Amino acid sequence: MEEIVQIQLPPEEVANDAYIRSQLERKIGRNNFSFFWKKRSIDARKRNILINATFTILPEGKQPEKKIFFQAQALGSQTVHIIGAGPAGLFAALRCLELGIKPIVWERGKDVRARRRDLADINKKQVVNPESNYCFGEGGAGTYSDGKLYTRSKKRGDVEKSLGIFVQFGAEADIQIDAHPHIGTNKLPKIIVAMREEIIKQGGEVLFDTKLTDLRIEKGRIEEIQKNDTEWEKVDQVILATGHSARDIFELLHARKVLLYPKPFALGVRVEHRQEYIDKMQYHGRVNDEFLPPASYSLVTQVEDKGVFSFCMCPGGIIAPCATENGEVVTNGWSPSKRNNPYSNSGIVVAISPEDFDNPEDPFVCLDFQKKVEKACWEAAGKSQKVPAQCLKDFVDGKVSKSFPRSSYQPGIVSVDLNKVLPDLVAKRLKKAFLDFDKKMKGFVTNDAVLHAPESRTSSPVQIPRERETFQHPQLTNLYPCAEGAGYAGGIISAAIDGMNCVDAIQSKISGELG
Ligand SMILES: Cc1cc2nc3c(=O)[nH]c(=O)nc-3n(C[C@H](O)[C@H](O)[C@H](O)COP(=O)(O)OP(=O)(O)OC[C@H]3O[C@@H](n4cnc5c(N)ncnc54)[C@H](O)[C@@H]3O)c2cc1C
Repeated sequence: MEEIVQIQLPPEEVANDAYIRSQLERKIGRNNFSFFWKKRSIDARKRNILINATFTILPEGKQPEKKIFFQAQALGSQTVHIIGAGPAGLFAALRCLELGIKPIVWERGKDVRARRRDLADINKKQVVNPESNYCFGEGGAGTYSDGKLYTRSKKRGDVEKSLGIFVQFGAEADIQIDAHPHIGTNKLPKIIVAMREEIIKQGGEVLFDTKLTDLRIEKGRIEEIQKNDTEWEKVDQVILATGHSARDIFELLHARKVLLYPKPFALGVRVEHRQEYIDKMQYHGRVNDEFLPPASYSLVTQVEDKGVFSFCMCPGGIIAPCATENGEVVTNGWSPSKRNNPYSNSGIVVAISPEDFDNPEDPFVCLDFQKKVEKACWEAAGKSQKVPAQCLKDFVDGKVSKSFPRSSYQPGIVSVDLNKVLPDLVAKRLKKAFLDFDKKMKGFVTNDAVLHAPESRTSSPVQIPRERETFQHPQLTNLYPCAEGAGYAGGIISAAIDGMNCVDAIQSKISGELG
């Protein structure tokens, strides 16, 4: 019989099986058992930092049942066109194969390998390829992301399945145990390639350099979709998983009179501190401890009725240039699996809602604001992929920084007063929030930390609506708005889950029609 047992361990004993066994024996009062890690998290609230460890206990010699999370079936005659090969699109394709449906994936960008060259061009030549960049290409924004795999999704089964699929395609099994699982940018591409190879092996199609450019709508459904402004293709069902940066998709839907809504999102800056400082604060002075991972933080406050919060914190990370077009700058962050860079970075963002503007009904009101800020930052930093920057204390004091500590942002930074570049709606609240954060983490406001602007692609500023039960767009019975771009996910795991859920909704419809 299986038993679940929780104990606490000093960090230095986490890899010591003999120590763990002795603690478990004390706890359960016998020694004839096998034990297996189930969950682990760090409890750093007190000076004596401990690891909360949960184990599955089985009769001696027994192994836990091995779960298979993905298994393809023979294909039937149904097809689903999936637009976008981000986490949502790839997991939707895998789910199709589990249900015997043929997935046909269209991806505007290039495969993972070819994509690398375009990323290098952004960093070195300051040129953005609008089809292949940190957001577009195989694996979507998820490929060269940080690879933190936690989600606020409460459905344990879905989360377990998506993590299990990641492991089946090559991620370390630790991600199924850690409370805050992380893969790392260096390991994600291989996993994405393994998923694509499996989709093709099982009879699906994955087409790169294939952009959805138009729709032919008749009698409340999409009859045909157009690729690369030329060829038209008939479709059965369409999952639209194009991510939060596919602005041309929002424009296309609007032009074809497909209902859209404005959506709240968040915008601000990316702040970079030395990792040592974060460790010191979070681990009560323990810096570079070989038994503790680089520390992270999560900060939130309320300024003048608006939330200001940390977003996508990357311990031991690098700030990445995430623009999807020339004429704009955008920051985000990633880290390698070891999180061993000397810097940590995090978005610090202000909640923005359509009601902040004069025309809150306009579906593009938040998108236009996002574009305006990205363009203003591009102009302020000299119209390249360099970003406007300011030391954190100087920002709070309203002074232009004369010198900077090293920044991890490869294209480079330009000294400006961000109070003048960012809209008041954002800058004034950031300033107050930083002062509050400094009370929560002493020393947070320092000139050893650098603000890079803007952090603007936190989630989609537009919603593509869908019916709660059927997942169909209210006007188009075969359009399934999916994941982050449509406003139904935020992050890799929730996007992956939404991709699978869209396919399940399609399957319910098909079986209903057949039955
Ligand atoms: C640098 C960075 C770090 C991040 N770190 C994390 C993290 O640590 N943890 C986390 O959970 N999330 C992270 N994210 C966010 C995460 O990557 C996204 O939430 C997730 O990828 C969303 O998945 P998606 O499938 O909905 O969309 P996307 O990943 O955006 O994929 C959409 C895909 O659609 C394609 N597409 C767009 N338009 C078209 C078209 N017209 N025709 C065909 N294809 C099209 C795009 O090329 C893209 O590949 C990070 C993002 C970035 C940029």
